Amino acid sequence: TAVRPSFTFDNTYVRDLDGLYERWSAAQAPNPRLIALNEQLARELGLDQDALRTDEGVGVLVGNVVPEGAEPIAQAYAGHQFGGYSPRLGDGRALLVGELIDPKGARHDIHLKGSGRTRFARGGDGKAPLGPMLREYVVGEAMHALRIPTTRALAVTATGEMIMRDRGPEPGAVLARVASSHLRVGTFQYTAATGDVELLKRLADYAIDRHHPDARDADNPYLAFYERVVEAQAYLVAQWMLVGFVHGVMNTDNMTISGETIDYGPCAFLDGFDPATVYSSIDEGGRYAYGNQPVVAAWNLARFAETLIPLIDPDADAAVAAATEVLQSFTDRHAAHWRAGMRAKLGLERDAPEDPSLIEDLATVLRDEWIDHTRFYRALAHAVRGDDAPVRDLFSKPEAFDAWAARWRAALPSGDRGEIAAGMDRVNPVYIPRNHLVEEALTAAVAGDFDPFHRLNEVLADPFVERPGLERYTEPGSGGYTTFCGT
Ligand code: AMP
Ligand code: MG
Ligand code: MG
Repeated sequence: TAVRPSFTFDNTYVRDLDGLYERWSAAQAPNPRLIALNEQLARELGLDQDALRTDEGVGVLVGNVVPEGAEPIAQAYAGHQFGGYSPRLGDGRALLVGELIDPKGARHDIHLKGSGRTRFARGGDGKAPLGPMLREYVVGEAMHALRIPTTRALAVTATGEMIMRDRGPEPGAVLARVASSHLRVGTFQYTAATGDVELLKRLADYAIDRHHPDARDADNPYLAFYERVVEAQAYLVAQWMLVGFVHGVMNTDNMTISGETIDYGPCAFLDGFDPATVYSSIDEGGRYAYGNQPVVAAWNLARFAETLIPLIDPDADAAVAAATEVLQSFTDRHAAHWRAGMRAKLGLERDAPEDPSLIEDLATVLRDEWIDHTRFYRALAHAVRGDDAPVRDLFSKPEAFDAWAARWRAALPSGDRGEIAAGMDRVNPVYIPRNHLVEEALTAAVAGDFDPFHRLNEVLADPFVERPGLERYTEPGSGGYTTFCGT
């Protein structure tokens, strides 16, 4: 039938990494209903969206139909969760269906989340509620539109069964997720813990081939591989910080080797700027607070380095010294990406030798009045165009801002003001998945009204271009927002 020719799977993970997965099949969904299909992503993957909407297509997306050539597996991984090590996490409620090669030749994992208990399920029911799967869809796609590396949502399908959660019964759903791979720091931790160095080497070789093939040509390919991952994460976390994203659960099993954002559980976006912001109900110590994300990323990368020691050098002391040096470069790499991004947000030239504390001092100005992180930069562009009111009006006492702004104006390049402002608008979004908007869309969806969800996705697909009639999508929330893990 129609859908089969459009899925052509390869299964390199299954072929190359025996020992790091369990073959498995999805639970049958009693009454699948396609809630959201990402048509743009389907096109990019070379999938026929009409075929995906047939019973068979929806069957594939929910796990009822195993496409020809697919060999579904649950992947094994370990991880540090809030600092404590769990030796065996793995896909407890998810399956890797297979790898799809897109028309441009790029490889993507097709993964189902919420597809039933696996051998890694421990106490869990293997299921996923509709609300959190739609959250992953809307926030992940918003991140993609913000040009931030991320796993993506191909579809959310309601299973037709109710599942039990603390909040009461909720509709169950399966998210079809697309990623350049699902290799995690936790995959390396699991493998290193087996003590099987040959398997560890196979995993590292696999990851190099798939994500960082240039590392192969380095003098020390495994050290170079480590450096590529450090660089990818330094870049990624800088991009999060620039848009005010708080991941919320940066456990080592939620950090990818590819440098894509993964696991949109308790994530949220800053309203008012404050580095101490925490949204997750379970992050009591503030480990994953907005401003702590670079520190945690480096901590996770240290755990990653520990797994690679036997590959980097047979002399463990030499390996540790070499890996430590690379890890120490994280801070500078992250700061460089962040500063480059901040310069662009502020309309400054890329390599201008600006006032050294100009960027740091802005943080104090914004935090003292809890200024909306997203609105500030768009309003600032109006000041470049000659209208100071929008940005000054954000402050109840604008003196500190005025003093900072005088220094900022002095640092602005000469040249056409309109062009500078337009350049700022190209990197400062108007529309982000504000917490109250996401909540409103998910609440409506769970009650059966999917319009706010679809509308929100449409708005967020084009985040940098302000459109009339969408004012409510720029309104800040009231603060004090809390996210729950939503499992
Ligand atoms: P997460 O907090 O989403 O990163 O997930 C951590 C671990 O818990 C992973 O091994 C998941 O597969 C597992 N897990 C989360 N929810 C469930 C569930 N409902 N049933 C089985 N396993 C789950
Ligand atoms: Mg996870
Ligand atoms: Mg999760």
